[in-house]
Amino acid sequence: VSTVIAVDGPAAAGKTSTCLALAEIFGLRYLESGRTYRIIAFEALRREIPVDNAREVTGLCDDLIRESRSAGLLTSERYAPDKLRATPVNVAVSAVAKIADVRQRVTSLIRLWAKSQAQCVIEGRDIGTTIFPTAPVKFYLTATPEVRAMRRVRQERAGSYENVLEDVIRRDEADMSRAVSPLAAAEDAIRIDTSGLTLDQVVSRMSSACLN
Ligand code: C5P
Repeated sequence: VSTVIAVDGPAAAGKTSTCLALAEIFGLRYLESGRTYRIIAFEALRREIPVDNAREVTGLCDDLIRESRSAGLLTSERYAPDKLRATPVNVAVSAVAKIADVRQRVTSLIRLWAKSQAQCVIEGRDIGTTIFPTAPVKFYLTATPEVRAMRRVRQERAGSYENVLEDVIRRDEADMSRAVSPLAAAEDAIRIDTSGLTLDQVVSRMSSACLN
């Protein structure tokens, strides 16, 4: 049986950087679940499938799963990170992530992938609440929208601060208000507000909690 460390939180709260560090420290496999929603959004845009058409996007999702042999879609190396992080994908991904049938398929893939791992750390929006509600260690990372936007601009040169802030706020709102698996902290999650903390400080709190 695999042990999952669940890391959830809003866009650009530092999930990826901290999860990579935890994976390194404890020798865990790491999965960035948002990447799968981004791949589906990217392919929908490329194939000119309207992202708000649930039936068509679900069909696309099934095709992608078939083409990449099931859980392979989660770890596919076919997609360059900068393509998946481009503005049109940032905008389309919220619509894709709202579709219940797409979420159900991604959830199954993640559970399947985790089964084959001894220990892993998975980041997303619904890992500790929906996908692995019994995970023994859960974190919920937050920071103010302004801090998150500033970090993203510095890290990725992701556009102007104003545009990134707008994207962060828009995605928070979409993630928190959707009907299926809205973004929320699990009751038993350790909440960390990273606004005034360095990456090392956050990682150190998280790794101590993992050892307890
Ligand atoms: O983590 P990242 O910002 O790359 O995720 C992109 C989008 O995918 C999020 O804005 C969210 O709408 C969606 N997502 C989700 N559930 C997850 C991971 C990501 O709905 N577990």
